[in-house]
Amino acid sequence: MNEYTNRDRTYEGQPCTPNSSINCTVTSCAYHCQDAQRCGLNSIQVGTHETNPTQDQCTDCQSFKKRW
Ligand code: SF4
Repeated sequence: MNEYTNRDRTYEGQPCTPNSSINCTVTSCAYHCQDAQRCGLNSIQVGTHETNPTQDQCTDCQSFKKRW
């Protein structure tokens, strides 16, 4: 079985342990714990693609990695 096709595993192939401090709805991310609506990382990096961010749409989770 290819571990990277298991929806409950993270990008590294480890079981996805939902982080109760990081709620997330981005199910296309390789770190998303699919049924829990939470991130499986211990911490994430948030940044911006704007020079002067003024609203939530200006910010990004820079830990995102596309799901396989
Ligand atoms: S890395 Fe970012 S986008 Fe991906 S599941 Fe975690 S919080 Fe969501």
